[in-house]
Amino acid sequence: MSLLSSLGREPGAQECSRAGCRADAAWRIQWRNPRIHAEDRRKTWLACDEHLEYLREFLAARDFPLEVLPVDESPVDELPSAESGVTW
Ligand SMILES: [Zn+2]
Repeated sequence: MSLLSSLGREPGAQECSRAGCRADAAWRIQWRNPRIHAEDRRKTWLACDEHLEYLREFLAARDFPLEVLPVDESPVDELPSAESGVTW
């Protein structure tokens, strides 16, 4: 049994990728820069509800192919205002 293996997992790992935003991400943006990435290469950004549009437009403005998926497979039907900072 290793203590390290239990410490390696952060509870708040699904954080929005927008600089300075520490909200839980609800969306996963998978994108690719055709100029530097191979055809099968994908980068992933995480976005909260508030910044999904910002990040998507950032990529769309550069003509990067992108795909928006929910972070979880389960449907997200909780309102963002129901947040209860339990992590710490
Ligand atoms: Zn955010």
